[in-house]
Amino acid sequence: MRHIAIIGSGPAGYYTAEAAQKAFGEEVRIDIVDRLPTPFGLIRFGVAPDHQSIKAVARRYEKVALSGNVRFCGHVSVGQDVSIAELQDLYDAVVLATGAPHDRPLDLPGADLPGVYGSAAFVGWYNGHPDFAHLDPPLDGRHAVVVGNGNVALDVARILAKTEAEFAASDIAAHALAMLMAANTEAITILGRRGPHQIAMTPKELGELGRLERAAPRVDPADLPEAAADALLEPGMRKSVTSLREFAAIPEAFRADKPVEIDFDFFASPVAILGEGKVEGVRVERTALDADLRSIGTGETYDIPARLVVTCIGYRTPPIEGVPYEHGRGRFANDKGRILPGLYCVGWARRGPTGTIGTNRPDGYELVETIAEDIGDGGGKAGRAGLDALLEERGVRIVTFADWQKIDEAEIARAMKGRPREKFVSVEDMIAAHRD
Ligand code: NAP
Repeated sequence: MRHIAIIGSGPAGYYTAEAAQKAFGEEVRIDIVDRLPTPFGLIRFGVAPDHQSIKAVARRYEKVALSGNVRFCGHVSVGQDVSIAELQDLYDAVVLATGAPHDRPLDLPGADLPGVYGSAAFVGWYNGHPDFAHLDPPLDGRHAVVVGNGNVALDVARILAKTEAEFAASDIAAHALAMLMAANTEAITILGRRGPHQIAMTPKELGELGRLERAAPRVDPADLPEAAADALLEPGMRKSVTSLREFAAIPEAFRADKPVEIDFDFFASPVAILGEGKVEGVRVERTALDADLRSIGTGETYDIPARLVVTCIGYRTPPIEGVPYEHGRGRFANDKGRILPGLYCVGWARRGPTGTIGTNRPDGYELVETIAEDIGDGGGKAGRAGLDALLEERGVRIVTFADWQKIDEAEIARAMKGRPREKFVSVEDMIAAHRD
């Protein structure tokens, strides 16, 4: 028997479990440990609440979770309830599938002013993550600035711009919906430090901005490269740039009944967040591209008013004491997922925050091949029974997958008509929902 512990129940964790089941059949026991009582990580707390079709992939993880040799150990905090070293003693392989839940910091003067949020916090807020449910972002101003030209920037801009009707089939947290509907936002500026050909936005997500009820995107035609240059782009990127060209051609008459504007400000790098005691604006420097397509400042600056700033500039995996870490890239130091003997990483914790949810599948399968090479038939470790004994001794009660199913049912039962669920946003309420 092989014993595998996977820390983190997001896509990378479940694909790794699925791969281990396929590789080892009945000869493996897999425990998926998560700090929260709810499984699926980024699917629940990262994927936008109005992108329900993407969340449907959780059905696949559910199948894995319900099979006999996989167990969900929710509400168990590694580092607090049990250490990595203890898990290594108990399991043949310990896999860190902890994702990249921390924001890359925007290292600028004023970045610590109230009203500046990283996307992990802001997205966590509207997605009902217990760590961020209390956030209370200032939405009373007319201007919001979103920093970054990736898909998360698009998510944040879209969520700020949507109407209540457009959230009808979403699972946005009730506290966020109430605040967004009372907000005064009229102008959302998306700052990109490079140009339209350097965006990290995918066509479907970008196209959505052109179909919003009360908002219209604006692109300055002068920022767009010669149309002929699009031919050199790969097809997905070409589609995205085509959307930007369409946005640049939107007639003014179309904007007349769109009270919210989403302004793409390209070649614009933030250099300071302005304000006394709260955010009042962003100082931006015009940029140009050097021969390697890196942005360089031109020295020309201007200020944009802002009451809210959300930085969507990527994420980092939090380091764990004693586990080798690559500070520059914000991920665990690893060779094909191997960190130390018996300790592995997968998904964003291994490669950094890139790719789609599906990218984690080959990652998980590849890692299991590595684990299979390393652990052979298993080393006669205590596995699950050992973890249970240790947690019982410490008075830690696991939230099982069956418990989660009760939480799930309770969330579905309390949803408003047409909405998939109303999430519990505190750990206490999640626990109460399954114990009751
Ligand atoms: P991302 O795709 O890496 O984009 C980060 C953006 O931030 C880039 O435009 C980058 O510009 C910019 N940036 C970085 N540092 C900056 C700085 N100091 N000042 C100004 N701009 C800065 O990251 P993400 O949007 O967080 O997305 C993470 C991953 O999740 C991506 O793989 C994304 O596709 C995926 N995702 C997918 C979906 C979806 O499929 N619906 C939704 C959300 C997220 P440079 O290029 O100049 O560095």
